[in-house]
Amino acid sequence: MPIKTVLVAGGAGFLGSHLCSALLEDGCEVVCVDNLGSGRRRNLEEIDDHPNFRFLDADIREATDLPAVDEIYHLASRASPADFTEFPVRIALTNTEGTRHLLEHAVECDARFVYASTSEVYGDPEVHPQPESYNGNVNIRGERGCYDESKRFGETLTVAYERRYDLDVRTARIFNTYGPRMRPDDGRVIPTFLSQALRVEDLTIYGDGSQTRSFCYVDDMIRGLRSLMRTDGLQGEAINIGMENEVTIRTVAELIVDICDADSDFVYEPLPEDDPRKRRPDITKARHLLDWEPDVSLDVGLRRTLEHFRTHERQTLDDAPS
Ligand code: NAD
Ligand code: UDP
Repeated sequence: MPIKTVLVAGGAGFLGSHLCSALLEDGCEVVCVDNLGSGRRRNLEEIDDHPNFRFLDADIREATDLPAVDEIYHLASRASPADFTEFPVRIALTNTEGTRHLLEHAVECDARFVYASTSEVYGDPEVHPQPESYNGNVNIRGERGCYDESKRFGETLTVAYERRYDLDVRTARIFNTYGPRMRPDDGRVIPTFLSQALRVEDLTIYGDGSQTRSFCYVDDMIRGLRSLMRTDGLQGEAINIGMENEVTIRTVAELIVDICDADSDFVYEPLPEDDPRKRRPDITKARHLLDWEPDVSLDVGLRRTLEHFRTHERQTLDDAPS
């Protein structure tokens, strides 16, 4: 098979860096474009010297020196709700202008395109679990709107390019995913709880902790994204990729205190605006079209993530203000 050249936008981030590693293992040439906003060079340290790897420090809204490639994975976007108040304009424009810029590039080099959308397109869902046919319940003017609504428009743009230019685009609606290389200070719930437990601080549960999420381990997610790219005949499809096992945030807190063997308590803080009350993907489509389902249980995935935090994030955890 000829070697594929692949562009990974957002490749220095949590998911993107795992994707770059997996593609290199497959023999691909990988070009990572990232502005290091929420990503880190250290996420790439294992592959930085790989002869088939190249890093471009650039913003996807304006990058001019993108090489011709066969495939584009567009994962570039801050994804932590903790960033939505500080970077609303950048996030909204990355998912709109940035997506347009990458789609134009895909048309120029006739590349297959996978867009990383999100379960947030369903907002605070009134349909449960969420199938791809559900159109969602997003508060377009709320604090999460810069992310949720721009991801929705990003999807609209990819579909428009598919119709206008016959571009082979596919959309992954990614549900909560966790694992090694998330930043301890990322703000999302699993790295936050792990950091708090490792520092023997109290875990900050927002609301009463009865809201639910379904957490997918990173290796399963990367397998799903690659299958979405590699499977023929999926032009224009949007597919949920995520874990079906739904848990309350309180349960996640208990599990983390347990596996860290931490002497931490829980403190309750106000639930952020528009925080979805429940979330679980319907993955029937992924099962049928991608022959995909997740393998790694929450317990196993949390232990692997904990191990990574203990071995690779000690310094970050010690340095961060508590
Ligand atoms: P992340 O913040 O670790 O990675 C995002 C990367 O994109 C970072 O390296 C960041 O520096 C880069 N980036 C952001 N804006 C950019 C810009 N304008 N130009 C160039 N680079 C830019 O987040 P992640 O969890 O790895 O998420 C990756 C993608 O998956 C995002 O698009 C996110 O919306 C989507 N997603 C993730 C989850 C999850 O649970 N991890 C859930 C749903 C969707
Ligand atoms: N959450 C929490 N404590 C924290 C961080 C998050 O209770 O320190 C809650 C948050 O309110 C949400 C859930 O955990 O209900 C998942 O939050 P996260 O930011 O990881 O992702 P989301 O699914 O909201 O995008």
